[in-house]
Amino acid sequence: MKICSHCAARLNAERTATDTGECDLCGGLLSQVDIFFDIFKEETKEIEFSNFIVGVDADERYLKNDDDYRKEHCTDCKSFKKEFSTILGRKIEELLGKEAEFGNPELVFTVKQESGDYKLWTKSCYIQGRYRKLRRGIPQSPWINPSREREMERSISEYIGLIGLKYLKGRDYTFFASGREDVDTLMLGEGRPFYVEILQPKLRKIDLDLLAEQVKKFSNGGVEILALKLAAKEDIEELKGKVFDKSYEVGVKIEGSIENIESKIKEFEGITIHQRTPTRVLGLRKDRMRDRKIHSISIKESEGGRIRLIITAEAGTYIKEFVTGDNDRTNPSLSQRLGVNVQIEYLNVLEVN
Ligand SMILES: [Zn+2]
Repeated sequence: MKICSHCAARLNAERTATDTGECDLCGGLLSQVDIFFDIFKEETKEIEFSNFIVGVDADERYLKNDDDYRKEHCTDCKSFKKEFSTILGRKIEELLGKEAEFGNPELVFTVKQESGDYKLWTKSCYIQGRYRKLRRGIPQSPWINPSREREMERSISEYIGLIGLKYLKGRDYTFFASGREDVDTLMLGEGRPFYVEILQPKLRKIDLDLLAEQVKKFSNGGVEILALKLAAKEDIEELKGKVFDKSYEVGVKIEGSIENIESKIKEFEGITIHQRTPTRVLGLRKDRMRDRKIHSISIKESEGGRIRLIITAEAGTYIKEFVTGDNDRTNPSLSQRLGVNVQIEYLNVLEVN
C-alpha cells in the first residue's frame, strides 16, 4: 500500500510513497491543494461573492480504498475527500478573506478527481419589483412564431431580463410576473409584481436606480420598473403563491342607447360570472369553464355612446370577454345584460393588489 505524506499525517500512518500522485488512498489529490487554490483564485477573481463552499467529486476507487483503510486503522480519521475540502477551504478563508458557508453559499467550487477538472457555480440573484407598461404592443414574454421569427417588438421580460443580465454578468435569466396583461393593454398605477432571476451571476451588487433607468431607456419609455429590491428565494416563493385582484379601466363604445345605464351596470357588483376560455386564446389554452367575481364596477365617464368603466375583479378574470360576452362564452356579460353590441376601444390595468 502506497501512502503519501498527507495521508500519513491524516491517518497516523507511515509514509510509503512520494507526493507525486501514486498514493493508493487519495490518488494524489491531497498533494494538489495548492494547484486548486491557484485555479480557484484565478477563476474567481472577477466574481463577487462573500462566502463559498468547496467540494470534491471523488473517484470511487480511492473512496473505497480510503474507507477500507480507515475502518481497519483509524475510524476517527477524516476521509481524504473531507480533508481536501477542509484544507482548501481554510486556505481560501485565510488568503482570500472569504467565508466558508455550508448552508446557502454564493459560490460552489467542485473538483472532479478523475479528470482533474473543476466546476464553478454561483447562486442566482433575484431582483423583485413592479413594472408599468406605458406603450401598447409590448408582449410580456417573447412572441415568436413557428418559424422562430420575431413578430413583435421585444417583450417586457427581455427589456428587464437582458439589462439585469448585463449588469450582473449572468449566464441567463428567467422572468416571472403575477399574471399578465394582453399585448394591447397598458399596465399603469403602481405596476404589476414581477421578479427576474439572473442565473450564474458574476456580480451580486447592483445599482437598482441605474437598472430602472436603463430598462426605461432600452424600451424607449415603454417599460418602467419600480419598488425594486434584491430578493431572497423565500420572497420569490411567496410572490409565486400570491394571487392579486386587479382594477381595470376600459373604454367601451356602445351601439345603441340605454336607459338607466348606471344602475344596470351597478347590478354586476359582487356577482360571479362564468367564463369559458376566450375564443382568442383557445388554441393556446385548454377550453374550460371558470368562475370569477366582479368586485366593483362604475362609470367614470360617459359621452356620446362611449363610456369609460372602472372594474375591479378577481385574479384571472377575462375583462374583455366580460364586456363583450365573447358569443355567450362569458355569462353574464355587459353586452348581454345591456342588450346591445359593445366594442372595446382600449383596456388598461390600473392596479394589481
Ligand atoms: Zn494520499
